Amino acid sequence: MKNIQSIKGMNDVTPSESPEWQYVEARVSELFQSFGYQEIRFPIMEKTELFARGIGEVTDIVEKEMYTFNDRNDESLTLRPEGTASCVRACEQNRLLFDRGTLVQKLWYCGPMFRYEQPQKGRLRQFHQFGIEVFGIEGPDIDAEILMLTARLWRDLGIEDAVELQINSLGTNAARTKYKAALVEFLNAHRSALDEDSQNRIDRNPLRVLDSKDQNTQKLLEDAPSLLDYLDDESRQHFEELKSLLDVVGIKYVVNPRLVRGLDYYGRTVFEWVTNKLGAQGTVCAGGRYDGLVEQLGGKPTPAIGFGMGIERLILLLKELKALPSEIYRTVDVYLVVGEGETKDAFTLCETLRTELPFLRLQMHCGGGSFKSQMKKADKSGAEIALILGSQEVKAGVVAVKYLREEKDQHTVAINELTTFLA
Ligand code: ATP
Ligand code: MG
Repeated sequence: MKNIQSIKGMNDVTPSESPEWQYVEARVSELFQSFGYQEIRFPIMEKTELFARGIGEVTDIVEKEMYTFNDRNDESLTLRPEGTASCVRACEQNRLLFDRGTLVQKLWYCGPMFRYEQPQKGRLRQFHQFGIEVFGIEGPDIDAEILMLTARLWRDLGIEDAVELQINSLGTNAARTKYKAALVEFLNAHRSALDEDSQNRIDRNPLRVLDSKDQNTQKLLEDAPSLLDYLDDESRQHFEELKSLLDVVGIKYVVNPRLVRGLDYYGRTVFEWVTNKLGAQGTVCAGGRYDGLVEQLGGKPTPAIGFGMGIERLILLLKELKALPSEIYRTVDVYLVVGEGETKDAFTLCETLRTELPFLRLQMHCGGGSFKSQMKKADKSGAEIALILGSQEVKAGVVAVKYLREEKDQHTVAINELTTFLA
């Protein structure tokens, strides 16, 4: 029979890769918690309307990237393409934003997202994000904090030299409306030189054109009017304060006036952490303010800011830079080789060791086999040492210790001294 393959763009994480995921997940979640952020979890599926309303009808995501289907009751459901809309929905539904004015929510989440895109390196159909969402703070202090948090993460992971922070301000709705008019005029004047997607967007969602991945279009946009010239005073001040906070703590940034982000809910601060090490899929982390979204989804006006970070891209970057510590790949410390007929004693020994040394990663050989084949498995497991419990050892009340990675002679240790020996 023919093998069944996974869905294109939806990958497995094999045992040899999972240490990389565990490493990143541990570093990121520890850092988030150390800033006082709390984890929130929400379903991977929502009513389609949530994303249509939340992300915006005229966006790549909603127009052509969502996994949408009708369930058996004919309700339109969508696999989440991102976390922010779901997070807002969950906060509202669980009344986490109820006590406005005094209550602040600093939240993080992690999990799979789904987008029907052209799979390639760093671009998948099921990918994974870490995200942060903060509700109830106008900023710019909180804008600066989440950038400091990400900057610290890059430092912790040893990749700070490979990522660049780009920031921009989208201003208020009113400022963007004025800017849009100027932009549309410019785009119309150059219509024929734009890529097809961008031409279609001029009338429907002109800001999206700035986000075009087409190189010719990007080149042309260098002469387009700049959003920063249209900023309202308050947004300008917000942006200036953010920049001065980043200056104080020494976080370098580049102001990119064409940075708009692919989702409709953003306003004021937007940012991306970009690397030139991953080709076209260079954005590792992206986000911004979305002060209007809570209201747009039926809640009371609530200032908010957040970001999403692509775990696959982060791991690709860590690998590219050889920034993953080699220890993470070792998953077994000790491998117990079991002589024929000694299974009962071996289990008894393991039970004691597991109780007394809960952090020891001990793998007991199961399935029998010759001493030689067991030693091969011990070696392959990556363990530092093999403990050997054969009939001679059992009789003598000892185990033999064989060093698998070091030039050290084999010796025995009395069973009642083994805990001390391994500790
Ligand atoms: P891009 O411009 O690369 O398509 P985006 O603007 O659509 O990204 P966001 O919606 O802001 O991305 O998602 C935040 C982060 O999630 C991105 O910066 C990236 O790291 C990651 N990401 C987004 N889409 C994918 C994907 N299809 N595969 C892998 N990672 C992704
Ligand atoms: Mg995209």
